[in-house]
Parts: sequence; structure tokens; C-alpha cells
Amino acid sequence: MKLNLTFTEFFSRVNGLKVVGSSSSIVDEVVYDSRKISSATNQVFFALKGDFRDGHEFVEKAYDQGVRLFVIEKLVETKLDACYILVADCLKSLQHLAKIHRQTFTIPVVAITGSTGKTTVKEWIYHLVKGQVHVTRSPKSYNSQLGVALSLLMINEETEFALIEAGISEPGEMSALAEMIQPTIGILTNVGSAHAENFENHAQLVSEKLALFTNVKSLYTLDDYSEVALPYKNLVVIAEKSMEKYIELIPFQDKASKRSAMLAIGFVERYFRLDVEKIKSLPRLALRLETFEGIDNSLIINDSYNLDLDSLKIALEYQLSISQGRKRVALVGVHSDDQAVMNRVFEVINQFQPIDAHVYSGEINLSTIQLKDSVILLKGQRVKHMEKLAQKLKLKHHKTQLAFNMSAVRHNLSVFKSKLMPSTKILCMVKAQSYGVGLEKMGSFLEKCGADYLGVAYSDEGVELRKAGIKLPILVMNPEEDGYENCVAYNLEPAVYSQEQLEELISELIYLGAEHMPIHLKIDTGMHRLGIQPEELSEVLEVIQAQPEVQLKGVYSHLAAADYPSNKLFTTQQIELFKSCIHQIQLHNREVIFHLCNSEGALHFPSAHFDMIRVGIGLYGISNEPDISVQLKPVIEWKSVVSQVKEIPAGESVGYGRSYLAEKNTVIAIVPVGYADGFRRNLSIGKGAVYIKGKRCETVGRVCMDMIMVNTTGLQVKEGDEVEIIGEHQKIEQLAQAMDTIPYEVLTSLSKRVYRTYFEE
Ligand SMILES: *Cc1c(COP(=O)(O)O)cnc(C)c1O
Repeated sequence: MKLNLTFTEFFSRVNGLKVVGSSSSIVDEVVYDSRKISSATNQVFFALKGDFRDGHEFVEKAYDQGVRLFVIEKLVETKLDACYILVADCLKSLQHLAKIHRQTFTIPVVAITGSTGKTTVKEWIYHLVKGQVHVTRSPKSYNSQLGVALSLLMINEETEFALIEAGISEPGEMSALAEMIQPTIGILTNVGSAHAENFENHAQLVSEKLALFTNVKSLYTLDDYSEVALPYKNLVVIAEKSMEKYIELIPFQDKASKRSAMLAIGFVERYFRLDVEKIKSLPRLALRLETFEGIDNSLIINDSYNLDLDSLKIALEYQLSISQGRKRVALVGVHSDDQAVMNRVFEVINQFQPIDAHVYSGEINLSTIQLKDSVILLKGQRVKHMEKLAQKLKLKHHKTQLAFNMSAVRHNLSVFKSKLMPSTKILCMVKAQSYGVGLEKMGSFLEKCGADYLGVAYSDEGVELRKAGIKLPILVMNPEEDGYENCVAYNLEPAVYSQEQLEELISELIYLGAEHMPIHLKIDTGMHRLGIQPEELSEVLEVIQAQPEVQLKGVYSHLAAADYPSNKLFTTQQIELFKSCIHQIQLHNREVIFHLCNSEGALHFPSAHFDMIRVGIGLYGISNEPDISVQLKPVIEWKSVVSQVKEIPAGESVGYGRSYLAEKNTVIAIVPVGYADGFRRNLSIGKGAVYIKGKRCETVGRVCMDMIMVNTTGLQVKEGDEVEIIGEHQKIEQLAQAMDTIPYEVLTSLSKRVYRTYFEE
């Protein structure tokens, strides 16, 4: 933008009321966001009021960045060497400036509006006519009250044709836009539902949209508005029939794209010379600047579809606004090493120093550029080359991935909480890498979600949790002899499950000089795994009481068959036995935390919660109890991607041992997951399946170490299609059943090599 206005001209164009200070410089460019200011010479800052911020609060910051001229509505602290123009309404002043600027040009100005497809039609018209005329167009979807003003200010001496997009969010706004744009030609993409756009009825919506076109010479549409649009001398309805010859060339299948293409082509055909070849290369539009994670912890902004100086500047501003102080890199590919072109590009880029910019016409050697932690802008004329570069820089995700929905974990924890008395605590079991999900991730997350305790199998796991900064009390169920020292050093609470082990622990603590080590006594009430027998209880309690090295913090037992209704009587006996132990202990000590129930126990035996429950599998949304199962949310998604698709002629075999012989022609897909990932070998030969496009695809032949083959005959599966192993169609319970095991084992045998991601919704 280069407005080249004297101060007096500018003052009158913005309807200035009063000046504080004085200015003798030329006004060239409008800025309004202090984060986007790069080089501040001849810039004027408009203190616009947005929904979330008031520009007046940023006047000082803009001053610090070198701006010396300001348009304001209310007085701010002024500086001696700056000039402040007071106006009634900053946005209206900017719009007035744009309006007068627009009036100084006699070129055709096209205004595009409609409920959807405005940006697409605008960009496609641009694509079809660039090279024939010099076009100035609204950047991306700059179509608001502010965006339209800024778009109009981009019109300059070189412009032969302007394409301005207009959008409104409330009734009555269009006439303000029409007054600014003063279009000579109109394009109406469509008129959607009144309700969706804040309008009372359809007629009101149509008339609002048409308000943009009051003075146009002609109006182009696809639909017939001849009844409402009578005042237009020239309503050009582009008939679908007349477009038939082009339909085949449009590189998009969906209806909306086809409509947008027909409107763009129809307009260009009538108004300019249509280059039919260009229809084939109508670009796919990413409506916002596309950003994605790059290699080396970089962030990539891919705006490589075109290169004009205005859009380059906008992209650089965008890069600056999201960079948050990170290093900025610009990679700009141009067609030739024409020095004049390069200089103009550099001129724009140099306003954004410090930036590591590379403008080049050949190949680029990425190894010489510091990409680490940077925000990289890709911009260029060479679409194919830039696309390849974008692919190269994109962070490659692993094909076979486990994704864990942490919001579902939080939800499941709250379901358990809702079943407890307010004073009952929850211990979350994170043993075995938190059931294979990830120890540190789950530990920190559960702490954040309000778990009271964590439980692990070995003290090493406890140490890992402490090193991750977790502060919750941690129960260690299998503290081995050499783990006691860690229990002391990392404040972990070991379980005591036998008299011998208690002796061992005490001697170790005496040796370490430690006292009051909190312990949890484990009682065997019928599981017959680790634990002291109830008969030993009084003897053990005496030892504990006599020794200052240990302090009884908790007493627990474990249910053997909580999820088997047929064993209800047995479980009730376990509970009764535990109660009698509690009674005995409470004679000596009233501070102890008693805990018995695991996930299923907690759900089936609400009267046995005591002071705390210990949940594990339930956190992952797995329960045998149908009523509960529907309340819980699944956490695990196991996905992969088809590596290859093959046709197997009848009579040929597939895989090791030739266990599969194709009876008829068969199509198979090869998926990179195998028994080394946790997809068990017993799922071979049709016993197991995955889902592609929601369809069940059974295994063909044997499961290999790193791969499986699945039957996709008749399903139109292609390379790159997503494969679901656990997810919406195949729940972990179903996969476990096919593996002849239980979800616990499926989870814990997921191999470490499978890439894991964690997300919150
Ligand atoms: C693993 C474990 C739990 C958790 O069991 P879930 O069935 O996963 O809820 C509870 N208590 C003890 C002693 C455990 O070993």
C-alpha cells in the first residue's frame, strides 16, 4: 500500500476533528495491529476497537515501534514528536479514507457477495484472468467492514481491475460496504438460509445482499433473481446448460466447488477472454493460511499458491503475529533469477527484519538453514516445487499410532467419583506403564484431574513419577529389597505383605537411619496372592507398633472376583473378613486408610468403598457392567494406514506358510502392524480383523512380525487409507476376545515401539 497523501489531504479524508501535535510527513500506509508493524516509516496507526481489544491501548506500543501518526477517538497520553488526529469513529474514518481512495480510480471494480463461496469465486476469477490484466483483490477472506476498507486501499496506479469480497454479519451492514466499494459490476454467489445469517426471513436476506449492487452496470449470478432484481438493467444469469462443455475440466467433484467454478468461468468468459486450459488447474484453496508442525520443532506456514507483493506482505505479517518471538524463516521460490523481481521481493521482506529470508529460483539446500524452533513461511510462484518442499518439511507422523483421549480419562475418573461418598479417596493404578498407556503422561494427568493417590507395582515406577514432578502420595505394591532406599529417598509408600518382608524392611530402614516410613499393610482375604493371613494380623500389628521406623498409613486387600456375579457370595465373604480386620486394627489405630475395591469392585459393591478405592481399567472406559459401560468413554484409538493394495489371482497364496489360498480373485491390503506391535499372532487366518472405511477386513494368511495382510475385496481401498485396529468399530473388548484374552493384556502388550499421542477434546 502506498497512499502518498500529504498530511492535509489525509486529515480531510479521515474526517479529522482536531490535531494534537504536528506532522509534515507523507502518509503511505495504514496499520491497526501493533503486532504486525514491521517498518514504521510513513505509517499511520488507527486505534480501532475490536471485540476483544481496544486499539487505544496499543498506541504506545505502536509508538515504540516507530509510528508517529495516530488516528484516535479519545485522548491518549501524547508524545512530543508524534501527531494525533482525533476523529469521531476510527473505523468510519478508515472507511471514508478507503471510499475516497476508491473514487480516485476509474477502473472496473467487481464486488462479490453471497452466503458461501465468495472467496473461492474471487480466487478462481483471479486465477483465470491473471496475466491478462493487473488485478488487485481482497486478500484471503478480508471481507468485513475493516477488511473491505483495507482491500480498497490496496488499489494503486497499476491496478486495471479490482475484485473485492464483501461479507456481512448483521442486517444493515451492506449499504456501508456498498458506499465504500462503489462497485461497477456485481457477482452474487448464492443466498443461503436467513436463520443461519441472523435475518428474519429470506426476502430480507436477499434484499440485504442486493443492497451491494444498487448502482452496478451488470450483476452475474447462477440463480434467477429476475423478480427481485428487476432494477438491474443487466442481470446475467449463467445457465448451467451453457457451462456443460467446461464441467469435465473442473478438477473438483463436489457440488459447491462446481457451482463456484461455473460462476467464475461464466463471468470470465463474458467479461474477458477465457483460457480454457486454466480451468484444469483451478487451485484448491486453503481458506486460512495453512499451518502445520514441521521438522525440528518448527511451525510451517504454507502460502505457496501464488506470489504477489501484497499477499507476501500479508503472509509475513501473519508470520510475525504468530511467531511469539521465535526465529522467522522465509523460503520464497521464484521462476527465474530476474534480479528486479528478487529485489522487489526482498524489499518487502526487509520490512520484517530480523528474518532469515531465502529467495531463490533453483533448488534450496535446507541443510544450510537453521530450521530448529523457527516459524517458516513458504511462498512462491513454483507451485509444484513449493508443494514438495512443504512435504519435506512436514513432520512425518508414524503410520501405526496409538492415540489416547485424555478428556475421556478425565470423564471416566469423574464417573467413578460420582459413585463415591465425598470423603472417599481415589487411588489411580498406574502400574505397568499405566496399563501400557504411558506412566508419566497418565500420572501427571491424573494428578491434574484430582486423583488422591497413585499406585505402582515397583519402586522404579514411583521414582519415575517423582522425577516427573508428581507430588501425590504413591503406593508401591511390590517393593523389592533394593527398592527400599528409593522409597525413602523419593517419599514412596511401600506395601507390606509378609512378616519376613516387614523384618527386612525394618532392618533396611534402621541401616538407612529412616523413621516413620508410611506403609500399607496388605491382607490376603481370599485372593491367595501376596498378603498376610488375617490370623497373623495381631502379631504384625505388634511389630509395627513397636518399631518407630514404620508407621501404618494404610491397610488393604484385593478382591478376587468382583466382576463375576456368580461369585457374589465369595466377594461378600472377602468384604466381611476385611471388615473384621478393620475392627481389630481400629482398636489400636484410628488414622488408617482402609481400601479394598478395584474398578469393578467399586462399581458392584458400593458398601465396600471404605476410605479409598483403587481404579485401573475403568479409567480407560472398560467395564463388564453394561449400565456403567455406557457411562464411560473409550480412551484408546489404535490406527494405521494401508501401505499397499494388491490383487491376488485365484489359486495364489498369501504370506508365510502359504496358509491362505485365494479361491477366487482377491484384493488385499497390507497394513504395517504385526505381533511385535501387540497384534497377536493368533489373529491370523481370519480370526482377527481391522476396519477400513468402517468395513470389517479379516486377516489373510499369518500375522507377521511387522505386517498383516487383510481382505479388502470389493471395498475400493487405496494406499494411504486409514485403518482402525481399536476404535469406533472394533472396541478393545472385541479385539481382546478375538485374541482369547482380556483388555488388560491387550493394553499392556502394546509394544513400546508403537508411536503414542495424547489428545484432549
Ligand atoms: C491392578 C490393581 C488394581 C486396579 O484394578 P482394576 O481392575 O484395573 O481397576 C487395584 N488393586 C490392586 C492391588 C491391583 O493390583
